[in-house]
Amino acid sequence: MSSLSQRDLSVLWHPCTQMKEHEIYPLLPMVKGDGVYLIDDQGNRYIDAISSWWVNLFGHGRVEIKRAVQQQAEELEHVIFSGCSNIPAIELAEKLVAITPKGLDRVFYADCGSAAVEVSLKMSFQYWKNIGRPEKQKFIALSNGYHGETVGALSVGDVALYKETYGPMLFDTIMAPSPDCFYREQGESWYDYSLRQFEKMRSLVEKHHHETAAIILEPLIQCAGNMRMYHPVYLTKLRDLCDEFNVHLIFDEIAVGFGRTGTLFACEQANVVPDFMCVSKGITGGFLPLAAVLTRESIYEAFYDDYSSLKGFLHSHSYTGNALACAAGVATLNIFEQEPILENNKKLINKLSEVAEQFVDHPFVGDVRQTGTVLAIEMMKDKKTKEAFDWRERRGIRVYQHALTQGALLRPLANVVYMMPPYVITEEEIELLARVAWDGINKAVKD
Ligand code: PMP
Repeated sequence: MSSLSQRDLSVLWHPCTQMKEHEIYPLLPMVKGDGVYLIDDQGNRYIDAISSWWVNLFGHGRVEIKRAVQQQAEELEHVIFSGCSNIPAIELAEKLVAITPKGLDRVFYADCGSAAVEVSLKMSFQYWKNIGRPEKQKFIALSNGYHGETVGALSVGDVALYKETYGPMLFDTIMAPSPDCFYREQGESWYDYSLRQFEKMRSLVEKHHHETAAIILEPLIQCAGNMRMYHPVYLTKLRDLCDEFNVHLIFDEIAVGFGRTGTLFACEQANVVPDFMCVSKGITGGFLPLAAVLTRESIYEAFYDDYSSLKGFLHSHSYTGNALACAAGVATLNIFEQEPILENNKKLINKLSEVAEQFVDHPFVGDVRQTGTVLAIEMMKDKKTKEAFDWRERRGIRVYQHALTQGALLRPLANVVYMMPPYVITEEEIELLARVAWDGINKAVKD
């Protein structure tokens, strides 16, 4: 074990990790990033196939973002965002309003995705109180959804692995069956299945709208829920439903925003505008923690009153609007302005589709799915009956282990091997990842 690993393991406690696993699996202290590669303390290079938990857009060490952070550090690193402001925070908010769907005109910053989700829930809740509808207190969310790990975000999430332990701490949420197309009938299209599942959401909203503040969901891909996907028609119908029944619509674009699904934001594919949109992860190109909630001017106005009305949104995080993070955000959005990123990504998307094909007939692959730059390959014990491998068999981590020996950081979600690479990945590197995934799956499904 390297000395850095030893030092780490004697003082640190890592996220989403049973620390005892590091008795078997090595910890990888990374010392450098170089485009699509990460380099560990032994000099090994790994393709970052999952964009470091989906945050990295343009590779590690992208020079424009690095310079922007350096320059901002020379001027002002941070200032309290209550009563004060800063230049990059203003500039980034202007840019966010300009690039998000029309109607989202107000920006509230937070410092991670979970915090942004909390903000959107609290804003919706308080909006109804402020306008004299205090009975609208509940939230509807999708089964298999994920919105982060703070208590409110977990309450509206539905991934048992993260949620179950904390059940007694959480508030009740109305769960609608997911449109996750993995469960469609044989021969049924994504479109038809998503529509069919929408009818169940409709029934819930008809029943609960009077007590419901908002519906929250991840548009198009339930990422932490094993990269399950659905058709945009679900979002189009949902927008109409929310308008019909006067319920807010919150889109959690934290993972799928900034081009992952092929469009800049996933909701564009359904041609709808949510009432709240949460963004984070890619917003700084993967450099610094930052999140934002965008909402409508009409919602902002419901909070705008004399202080004594106590209608203000008094939510606060110390690092709200951090100048360094916002500078990284501005530099990231400048790259989108200056380069045809989405156009260029079409090549990446096509290449992913091409390498995906070979997996379809694999005897232990039950589903191959793709939305934009996200490709997921689901290993399965029985592809006919869709019987899953027992989670205790840890098939995914076997793929992970194999990939590390081949120079790839490919970290499956349970039995789902997926690629969500930085956009700078080359076609050759995608081919390499596909070979690594193929061999890894073959090793993992043995015995
Ligand atoms: N929502 C979604 C859809 C996410 O994928 C994540 C993070 N994986 C979050 C919220 C939470 O973001 P964070 O980890 O920054 O708190």
